Amino acid sequence: MEQLIANAVRSLTGISVMFLDLDRFKSINDTLGHHVGDRLLLDVSGRLMQCLRENDIVARLGGDEFVVVLPGSSDVVTVSHIANKIRDALNAPFEIDGNNIFTSPSIGISLYPKDGTTVDLLMKHADTAMYSAKQDGRNQFRFFSAEMNASLEERLSIEKDLRDAVSLNEFSLHYQPIINAGDGRIDALEALIRWNKPGKGLIPPDKFIPVAEESSLILQIGNWVIQEACRQLATWHRSGLDQIRLSINLSTRQLRQPDLAFVIGEIIRNNDLNPAMLEFEITETAAMENAEQTRYVLWALRGVGVRIAIDDFGTGYTSLNYLKLFPVQRLKIDRTFVKDILTDANDAAIATASISLAHSLGLDVVAEGVENREQLAFLKKHHCDNVQGYLFARPLPAAEIQALLEENDGQFFLPGEGFFDI
Ligand code: C2E
Ligand code: MG
Ligand code: MG
Repeated sequence: MEQLIANAVRSLTGISVMFLDLDRFKSINDTLGHHVGDRLLLDVSGRLMQCLRENDIVARLGGDEFVVVLPGSSDVVTVSHIANKIRDALNAPFEIDGNNIFTSPSIGISLYPKDGTTVDLLMKHADTAMYSAKQDGRNQFRFFSAEMNASLEERLSIEKDLRDAVSLNEFSLHYQPIINAGDGRIDALEALIRWNKPGKGLIPPDKFIPVAEESSLILQIGNWVIQEACRQLATWHRSGLDQIRLSINLSTRQLRQPDLAFVIGEIIRNNDLNPAMLEFEITETAAMENAEQTRYVLWALRGVGVRIAIDDFGTGYTSLNYLKLFPVQRLKIDRTFVKDILTDANDAAIATASISLAHSLGLDVVAEGVENREQLAFLKKHHCDNVQGYLFARPLPAAEIQALLEENDGQFFLPGEGFFDI
């Protein structure tokens, strides 16, 4: 590449550098064995070479990471065309040992001289762009941009601060009620983490959970959440608020911990809690990522006696067969469908179909993100069991939610006339 750069300086031409990573290569290795993974890498490099010219460079950096260098071209249209060609070539099935194997690449592209004039910088920026291609859903290519760099830097700085956040006691839990749509009683509270970073204010979970998830810090944080939520629930139960049930979110990584159920069981015992008063929420996407393994973990959790809910339902791709095999009790319809339930016929159809599906599988349903009475009326009309959202309460600190629980003996009323007659 150094030689190519020297040539490019002389001839005033461009260079493009592609970082290519195979999506979910690890699961192919894990499920079909390393010899199949090795064969796949060989076949991938063969197909890469077929897509390129004689003087282009293809290299394997290690693992499932390849680099392609195209001397002489740095115009976006030509390079996009080649990236598309590579993607299509790798999307076609690979026949290995009688198996038809499907894979896809995530590709990041940096251009000389626009994105860098040294090998280091071009490689680093192509890598950053590749990361962004993965974040945006895989099987695609992305050109490097300065914004990507900014968001990468923000991510790294969050990661750095996150390392200390647990020991510095910077996390807290807020609680949002889940309300029975029939009688207005609080059915459960959902624990939602907040990060109070001195000087930076409250950082919402969407900003740091994904970062924590990538760096395995999530295990430490997730453990803190379970500990703290159980401690709080035990305190409430002892003080007479013994009907409260609590719902706790689990991340993908936590779900992959073989001892998750054991650890949760220990925490429950240490706090002298009835496990039936706890529910764990896993997102649809996390549940389906490795459905067979999920099934075992969920059964182990059920063995401990806790309830299980599928969160953000409708945003992932559920195999209905697995939904039937998972020991879940509840579906939570994602807020994006509730938001436009009155104006968007598709969203309304997805929400009502999810309610029917849940009921026919014997599950109960929570609609997330209910913000107005009209949405509530629609959901009630379609027999949605429970509702959650700003219409009733935002996530609140423990003391405030406790006041709310004591106020009406756990019964919810909207200001004005009795709204549950809607
Ligand atoms: P989620 O579990 O689906 O939680 C619901 C999110 O919707 C919460 O955002 C809540 O504040 C917000 N929300 C509730 N009602 C409304 C409404 O009426 N309108 C609107 N616009 N939003 C509403 P939050 O607290 O920012 O949490 C975001 C996500 O972060 C959660 O989505 C969950 O996936 C994740 N998360 C939060 N706490 C934890 C945790 O302790 N562990 C893990 N692994 N993930 C967590
Ligand atoms: Mg949740
Ligand atoms: Mg949700």
